[in-house]
Amino acid sequence: MTHDALVQVTGVNKYFGDHHVLKDINLEVGKGEVIILLGPSGSGKSTLCRTINRLETISSGDIKIDGVSLPQEGKALADLRAEVGMVFQSFNLFAHKSILDNVTLGPRKVRGLSKTEAEDLAMSLLKKVGVDNQAHKMPAQLSGGQQQRVAIARALAMQPKVMLFDEPTSALDPEMVNEVLDTMISLAREGMTMIVVTHEMGFARKAADRIVFLADGEIVEESTPDQFFTNPQSDRAKDFLGKII
Ligand code: ADP
Ligand code: MG
Repeated sequence: MTHDALVQVTGVNKYFGDHHVLKDINLEVGKGEVIILLGPSGSGKSTLCRTINRLETISSGDIKIDGVSLPQEGKALADLRAEVGMVFQSFNLFAHKSILDNVTLGPRKVRGLSKTEAEDLAMSLLKKVGVDNQAHKMPAQLSGGQQQRVAIARALAMQPKVMLFDEPTSALDPEMVNEVLDTMISLAREGMTMIVVTHEMGFARKAADRIVFLADGEIVEESTPDQFFTNPQSDRAKDFLGKII
């Protein structure tokens, strides 16, 4: 795996003040692999995602994206961050820009694409996520599920090597959850490398190559979805599954 690892998290620790939030995290994500991060609230899932694209600094350890260590700051950081796409619970679209402009902005500014190139790319991505007919509307005119699919298209427009999803369906009305999960499943089938935090266990079981279970800032268990859901090894995982299934 080492040679093909697209994300390599090695010995990562993170403190918020005295609070040890990530404890010696080691995680390798292979090219095309889909990792589902599970764990109780407060276990460090969001913090781990945020350290992977340096929205949070780490206290010690190393994170490599495609073999290159994440720098702490500057242009090199901006370049590397562009290789990691992130989709959050709240869609965070720019409210005063059209859907099309939301998607073209990053590629034009960061990747240096011309207006036409960026619009061609954006339209093909909006089509991929099934909202190309909404391109000229404003975000507020779209449903939550549509907005989240635009957020996915916007992240993809940066041509990231890996996509991080932090509870992408938690803020959605139930009837819109599946359209977003289906979009993510297509992306996974196309070979996108993905790290996903979710409470959608059906999706986790279907989409994951590997389940990584965090508790109290530690990776407690790592296994195939079948193993994890039918035969969890740790008491923490058994307790977690007992509460949610
Ligand atoms: P999860 O996503 O698994 O619910 P988080 O990564 O959000 O967990 O949080 C892990 C721990 O870190 C929690 O105890 C949380 O209170 C703490 N934490 C998260 N962000 C901050 C922050 N910016 N400052 C201080 N503590 C934080
Ligand atoms: Mg979280």
